[in-house]
Amino acid sequence: MTTLNALPSLPSVSRVRASNKCGCGCGRLTGRTFAPGHDARLKGLILRVLAAVMTLDDVAAWGGEDTRKAVEGAIANPVLLKRWNIEVPAVEVPEEVEEQVG
Ligand SMILES: [Zn+2]
Repeated sequence: MTTLNALPSLPSVSRVRASNKCGCGCGRLTGRTFAPGHDARLKGLILRVLAAVMTLDDVAAWGGEDTRKAVEGAIANPVLLKRWNIEVPAVEVPEEVEEQVG
């Protein structure tokens, strides 16, 4: 009779190496683009900046310079914004400027 102890051991499955820096700028190493949940962290920051709830300086004060760079880079990336369904609001031109131009 074959017992479990007599079975050959299974080959070990190598784990995904955490060798990329997380895309949100937090500095964690991950095997993917983002550490788990950190795509949402970055998305939340982008939405706050676009809604003028936070400035990029606020982002840097909260998460550091790398987080600011990540937010800036993502806002300038139309492919990423489209994938996340983030609409960049049109820049409002103050009336005074319009009068000067027209
Ligand atoms: Zn992160």
